[in-house]
Formats: sequence, structure tokens, C-alpha cells
Amino acid sequence: MLRETIRSLAESKIAPFAAAVDEEGRFPQEALDALVASDLHAVHVPEEYGGAGADALATVIVIEEVARACASSSLIPAVNKLGSLPVILSGSEELKRKYLGPLAKGDAMFSYALSEPDAGSDAAGMKTKAVRDGDFWVLNGVKRWITNAGVSEYYTVMAVTDPTKRSKGISAFVVEKSDEGVSFGAPERKLGIKGSPTREVYLDNVRIPADRMIGEEGTGFATAMKTLDHTRVTIAAQALGIAQGALDYAKGYVQERKQFGKPIADFQGIQFMLADMAMKLEAARQLTYAAAAKSERVDGDLTFFGAAAKCFASDVAMEVTTDAVQLLGGYGYTRDYPVERMMRDAKITQIYEGTNQVQRIVMARNLP
Ligand SMILES: Cc1cc2nc3c(=O)[nH]c(=O)nc-3n(C[C@H](O)[C@H](O)[C@H](O)COP(=O)(O)OP(=O)(O)OC[C@H]3O[C@@H](n4cnc5c(N)ncnc54)[C@H](O)[C@@H]3O)c2cc1C
Repeated sequence: MLRETIRSLAESKIAPFAAAVDEEGRFPQEALDALVASDLHAVHVPEEYGGAGADALATVIVIEEVARACASSSLIPAVNKLGSLPVILSGSEELKRKYLGPLAKGDAMFSYALSEPDAGSDAAGMKTKAVRDGDFWVLNGVKRWITNAGVSEYYTVMAVTDPTKRSKGISAFVVEKSDEGVSFGAPERKLGIKGSPTREVYLDNVRIPADRMIGEEGTGFATAMKTLDHTRVTIAAQALGIAQGALDYAKGYVQERKQFGKPIADFQGIQFMLADMAMKLEAARQLTYAAAAKSERVDGDLTFFGAAAKCFASDVAMEVTTDAVQLLGGYGYTRDYPVERMMRDAKITQIYEGTNQVQRIVMARNLP
């Protein structure tokens, strides 16, 4: 039922704008409005904080179906979960009450600020600092590649509070867009997900009350990594959706397109490609749903499964979307058809929330 609801909403209210959002590189406001109106913008927020209380699998299905129509728009529910999960996992009751309510209502979005210009795969090498000053912390530094920066009201920011301790000297904070000293860089000019703004976040003597710290001092990196264990499953979901959109489009196209006097779908060479695409996609889906169940139960092997689902599904999305372009021939290579956008959008799923090389490092360290 949930899938039917979100699919029909995505097809009627999000898909019609997907090409324009990509072409114009603009935020998908129509998608945000439609998702908020149906309470699907941040479904993971627990009911006790005013949310829909969707479990991890339901959240995956929402993101998957939005991504099938528009990958940029799927970053609304996905990044709302990414940004707020540190608060849900490790925040005080006061922080949860203060920040999850507006998120659930659709009054505010939440971003996640871990990466920096010189600290990507090696996130613990971050330089952003937080220095205690009485009942306040003062933050200084630059966060890079922050999805929905400028649009979101709230930011989970990881910063060094003890430079002698590397990852154990990092703490997490909630920073608000309106805090004095917060500003944003120009939107990055990207290959894909062009409707999802990616900007630098500048923290210039941002003075925030001490109770904005998420969890204990020195636990921020652990919270950031625990968060990714869960949200890599949502990136896998995004990859599934993008690939499904491309497969569905190609499946329809090959039945219409005629060469040598018959639909190209009659050629076994084409049928075998479609069979492989569907097979890989279904394998990725089963792994992702298994990982979602592990995320919901917080199983001991979630770290492996989160990394495996994200890595496998994103590699499959890249293959399936590339094959979809191939199935449309020259037409597939043009912006008159949606599959080239899907191929460009798929690429990011192999890079963010840890590149697929990093996922393989994580898997190797956590072999089942
Ligand atoms: C569009 C977009 C949105 C993003 N959104 C967010 C966000 O909202 N919040 C956030 O905090 N970050 C975000 N990121 C950042 C993203 O997570 C990083 O770009 C990613 O982790 C890689 O870091 P890097 O770009 O510095 O690459 P690098 O770490 O410099 O990696 C370069 C290459 O080296 C490889 N590599 C690095 N170390 C190793 C190793 N030990 N072994 C093998 N290979 C290695 C990498 O896999 C990669 O191929 C986003 C990025 C993009 C592009």
C-alpha cells in the first residue's frame, strides 16, 4: 500500500518536473511540497516526536520510489534521515523534542556535515574546531559537499574538540542556519543530482549553547559512523530507484522502437540485456531490504550489510543505467529521453556516504 501511494504521488507530482529540475539545476520545490503534503518528507521520525514512525524498510521504499521518478528529489527524505539520525541515536531528550518536531511537520529540513575540503574518505582528519567557552561552544571551519545546504534549517556538524585524540576527539553538534557566523558557498556544478543543492558551509565563530552537543564530548565520530551504517541502506534504496526508473523506461522503449522490420525487443541480444538488468536489480533489492531489516533491528552485522547494500546497489545502478542508454541507442544519449539523466544521477551513489572503495574497506573489516 505504501509503495502504491508513493509511486502514484511520485508519478503525478514529482516525475513531471524531474527533467526541468535537472536542466535548470534548481531545487525540486514541487517535490518537497508534495512530500510534505503527504507526510512523506521525513517518514523515519518516531511518532513520539510527531513523525510518521516509519521503520527502516518503509523509509527505503519511500526513497526508492521517489528516486525512480527523480533522484534529486529522493535526497529530501534521504538527507532528512541522514541529518537527524545523529540526534535520534545519541541526542538528549531536549534536543529530540526541539529539532525533530519541526522536521516532522515539514517546517525544517536537516543536513549532515561531516566532509571537508581535505577530509573526505579520511573524515577523522577533519579540521573544523569547537572550543568551549563557558556554557557555549565556538565553532570554526569549512564543511564541504553538504547536501541541501542553504535549504536546510538544521545541520549536524562534526568538529574537533580535542585535537590530541583524532576520532575520539570529535564531537557532534546541532547548528542552525540562522546561527550567527553560518554562511554558504555557491552551489557546486555537478554531473548529476543537479536539483539537489550541494554547498560548502562556513562556520565563522559560530557560538552555540553547550546543550546543542549531540551525546557526550568525544563521541561525535562514533555517532557519525553509526548513522552511516543505517543511512547507507537509504543510498542503496536511491540506487535501486534510479535503476528501476531506467529499466522501466528501456523496457517500454524496446517494444516501440522498430529496426529490421520488427520491434528491437524481438532480438535475443536485447532480451538478454534486459534479463541481466532485471536480475542484478532484483539481487540488489533483496540485499537492500535485508540490510533495512538489520537496520531496524540494529543487528550486530549491520555495518557489513549497510556497506554491502550501498556498494552493490550503486554498482548495479551504474551498470543498469548505462545499459538503458545503450538500449535507446543514439536517442538514449540525448536529453530528449530521461535515461542519460538517470545514468548521470546513478554515479553519485558510488561516491557519497563513503566511496565504494571505502565500503569495501568497511566490509573487509567486518566480514560476517
Ligand atoms: C554531490 C555530493 C553530495 C555530498 N553530500 C554530503 C553530505 O551531505 N555530507 C557530507 O558530510 N558529505 C557529503 N559528500 C561528501 C562525500 O561523502 C565525499 O565526497 C566522499 O566521502 C569522498 O571523499 P572525497 O571526495 O574527499 O574523495 P577522496 O577521499 O579524496 O577520494 C578520492 C579517491 O581515492 C579513493 N580512496 C581514498 N582513500 C582510499 C583508501 N584508503 N583505499 C582505497 N581508495 C581510497 C576514493 O575511493 C576515491 O576514489 C557529498 C559529495 C558529493 C559529491
